[in-house]
Order: sequence, then C-alpha cells, then structure tokens
Amino acid sequence: METLARLAHAGTLLIVNALLASLSCAIFLALRWSLRHSGRTRGLALWALSQAFVAGGFCVLILPAFQVAFVGLGLLGNLLIDLGTAASFAAVWIYFSKPRRFGFVIIIAAAVAVVESVLVLRGGEDLRVMVTVGGSLKAILTFATGLMLWQCPDPSQRVPARVAAAFHAFWGLALLIRVAWWMVHPAAEGQHDVTSSFGLLARMVLTWAITPCLLWMMSRQFDADLRRLAHEDALTGVANRRAMWAAAERSLSRAASTRSRCGVLILDVDHFKAINDRFGHPGGDQVLIALAKVLQAVVKPPDLVARIGGEEFMVLMTDTDVSAVGRMAEDLRRAVETTPFVVDGITLHCTVSIGHHVAETDESWNDAVTRADRALYAAKLRGRNRAEVADGFDRVDGDRAAAQPGTPT
Ligand code: GH3
Ligand code: MG
Ligand code: MG
Repeated sequence: METLARLAHAGTLLIVNALLASLSCAIFLALRWSLRHSGRTRGLALWALSQAFVAGGFCVLILPAFQVAFVGLGLLGNLLIDLGTAASFAAVWIYFSKPRRFGFVIIIAAAVAVVESVLVLRGGEDLRVMVTVGGSLKAILTFATGLMLWQCPDPSQRVPARVAAAFHAFWGLALLIRVAWWMVHPAAEGQHDVTSSFGLLARMVLTWAITPCLLWMMSRQFDADLRRLAHEDALTGVANRRAMWAAAERSLSRAASTRSRCGVLILDVDHFKAINDRFGHPGGDQVLIALAKVLQAVVKPPDLVARIGGEEFMVLMTDTDVSAVGRMAEDLRRAVETTPFVVDGITLHCTVSIGHHVAETDESWNDAVTRADRALYAAKLRGRNRAEVADGFDRVDGDRAAAQPGTPT
C-alpha cells in the first residue's frame, strides 16, 4: 500500500477520477437526450446522476489542494461518492425492471449508512470510520450491482453484463481489501490514508470500464429488438412471413441431410370479412390476436406458427410424416372451432380451412407451399371448416379458376 501510495499520487488520481466520472456522466446524459423519444431510457438518467455524484465527490476531495477547506469537507466528498454508488445500484435495478430479490439490499445499505452517520456525527470526521464503514457500504452496493448484472435475464445482453459484473466484483474486492487494511492496522494514523491511492486506482478502472460495458449492453439490446421486429408479426406477435420462409429453408436443407421430412399447413379464417363487417377492423384484429394464441397453444416448438397474410396463418412442422401433419391439422381446426372469441363483450365462434402437405425430399419450399395452398382451396370449395391434404390436388388449378368469383382468396 505504501509503495503504491508513493508511486501513484493520490491528488493526481483524484483529478483523473473526477474527469472520468464527468465524462461518463456527459455520455449518459447525451445518450438519454438522443433516445428521449425511443422509450429506451430506463435507468439512464440515474446512471448519469450516479456519475455526477462520484465526480462531485472527487472534486470536493480535491479542494484542499486549492487551499479551500471547511468543516466536513472529507465527509461531504465521501458522502457524494457513497450516493453515487447507491445511485448506480438503483440505475441497474431500474434497468433490469426492479428485481424484487434485490430490494433487501436497499434496506441493508440504508442501515449501514445510518450507522456511519451516527458514528461520524458523534466522533467527528474520523478517516478510519469513513474508510471502514463507508467502504463496507460501497462494497455491499457494488457486489449487489455486480450480482444483478451477472444474473442479467436477457441472453442478448448477458456477455457485456457479465463483463461489467466482473469489474464491479473487482472494485468491491478492492474496497474490502481497503477495509481489511484499516482493521489490521489499528495504529495507522487517522489523518493520512495510505490506502487511498489503491482505492482510487481501483475506482478509476471501474469508471473506465463500466461506461463502454453499459453502452455495449444497450447496443446488444437494440440489436435484439431490431432482429425481433424483423421476424415478428406486429399484430399477433407470432413469426411473420419472412421468419417462416427463413425457418422453412433451414428446415428443408436439414431434412435433406437427415432424410427426415417437413410439413406445411396453411390456415385461412372462414368468412373473415363478415367478422370485420360486424365488429369493424379493430374487432377483427382482436379475433386474429386471440386466434394466434389458440394456434400457438397447439403448435409446440420446434414447430413454428406464422401469420403470412391478413387472416392467413402457416404452420411448419419439422421431422414429421403425413399422419402427424394430418393430426395436427385436425387438432388446429378443432381448437379454433371450439374456442369462444369475445369481441366488445359479444361471444362469437369462427372456423378455419386448412390445406396441408408433407414436402418431398427433393421438393422446394415454394413448391410445397403451392401444393398446400391448392389443398386449402379445395377445403374452401368443399364447404370450409375442414382440412385437406395436398395429395390429389395437383390438378386443382382448374377447380380454382372455376371457383374464383366469390370464393376463397
Ligand atoms: P373465405 O376465406 O372463407 O373465403 O372468406 P373471407 O371473408 O375470409 O375472405 P377473404 O380471405 O377474401 O377475406 C379476408 C379479409 O381479411 C379481407 C380483409 O379486409 C381482411 N383483413 C386482411 N388483413 C386484415 C387485418 O390485418 N385485420 C383485419 N381486421 N382484417 C384484415
Ligand atoms: Mg378467409
Ligand atoms: Mg384469405
């Protein structure tokens, strides 16, 4: 500790820490401002505030070098850094939507803060008290922040969150080492802190590392959001056409190498125009949302449901056969038929027609879809609320042309 104190001048480290924290604060404020319309600012203001507290604390601690001194200066500086640590914990807590299991940390930290305040108010500005009790308070908050980051629930952000967690653990450990040093050196002079260079260096590493880590986390989150939006149907939340086509191409090439087969089912809601006419477009939308849920309850991963058009859905089945696809079609048809849909307080029932097909090993996805589509038309022609298999409908083109006016689209 003594050697480090001689090598790294505490005053210089105070200035560097103040500058780094100010820079961090400015970056978070700029980010908060630029994202103000995106609804993605959770925790950012508090992060900026935490860095402002830390920067303010270090600035106060630098003042004696400029011959500025007042009673409680050390206390104020350390208090601001403690507040910064607490705000950083709160920012991460809010960022992760306030996980309940970390709520108790706030109570423990508040209790330690009360103990520190009582001790300092009674005994005056004692460096030993401020380093040991204040250091323990910061260590509790820092380890809790690190643990929260480590347990990041979003897989897309987990890598940067865990890097940030490691830096928090490093600073928490440095704080504990400092506390331990003061405990095992009872004779150490209360006016001169030889551990401060060590503490300031560790804090510098944390501030330097945490800003890019948090920006990295946010960019991973944006990236995941964009990918999700590109593959999700905006109304129902199931996969969209693009995601279905990509998944199908992947499944077909995998099926070719494993000699397994893929099934495709196309579902079209019967007389959906009548539902729209009766309940309006928003009412029709409510039915589509509920219908997607019904389909999702029947189709289990790795099989996939997608909305591929207005009231048309598609199901992709992997590693399957003709009878399993037929059973799935019947399950889906019955699930829709037996589900009551409630729109504007009125209960209605609707049905779907389904065309299904199991792709041949050398068949392209588009050809498989065309055959399932023909089977769907046959299902419509044969009275709706039924499922038809594609076999035997390769010559449906004629039927389809004849049936066009007023029949399925
Ligand atoms: P059938 O399929 O049984 O032949 O009859 P249909 O009444 O369902 O006929 P069609 O497939 O032509 O009608 C589809 C209707 O779905 C027409 C269109 O206004 C409506 N639609 C398309 N997209 C949406 C949407 O996103 N929301 C709502 N509410 N309606 C939609
Ligand atoms: Mg329809
Ligand atoms: Mg249709």
